[in-house]
Amino acid sequence: MNLRHYVRDIPDYPKKGITFFDITPILKSPEAFQYCIDRFADLYGESGATKIVAADARGFIFGAPLALKLGIGFVPIRKPGKLPYKNRCVTYDLEYGTDTLCMHVDAINADDKVLIIDDLMATGGTAEGMIKLIREVGAEIVAAGFVVQLTYLDGDEVMKANDVRCDYLLE
Ligand code: 5GP
Repeated sequence: MNLRHYVRDIPDYPKKGITFFDITPILKSPEAFQYCIDRFADLYGESGATKIVAADARGFIFGAPLALKLGIGFVPIRKPGKLPYKNRCVTYDLEYGTDTLCMHVDAINADDKVLIIDDLMATGGTAEGMIKLIREVGAEIVAAGFVVQLTYLDGDEVMKANDVRCDYLLE
């Protein structure tokens, strides 16, 4: 399976000068989608992870079926104001400005072993925000898995600086 055939480059989206990597062709193909979940399951089946944490919105698409396949819980991370129960939030720096991510206060515990899943790693900012949220609770992060890594950005360095093992299905 060559996943590259299922990732479409969209020039000038969402702004002029930016190329967006569209993963919806993966979702449209049951074979490609299943391949991603199976590859992640091979990587993390023996990791001891007890929860998958994933960010709104495309992280949910890969994180939820993987959680079911591994038989572990799924925890959604969302922007402020989206989760109905009590929230724990972190604000982190972006290239221009800041962003905030939240999760429910009872979503993970200090004894959880957490696996982060997302569709794509670019600057690593989103992943770093998730790492902060998880570590604030005292939980361990076993790894972070991404379908696509944009290698021309420094996401991998950010993850190394945070001492988190990373895996990419497509680099
Ligand atoms: P980062 O925080 O690493 O700069 O950006 C990664 C986050 O933004 C991920 O949650 C991902 O869903 C989204 N994202 C940023 N750029 C792209 C892109 O080109 N394609 C896709 N599919 N997602 C992107």
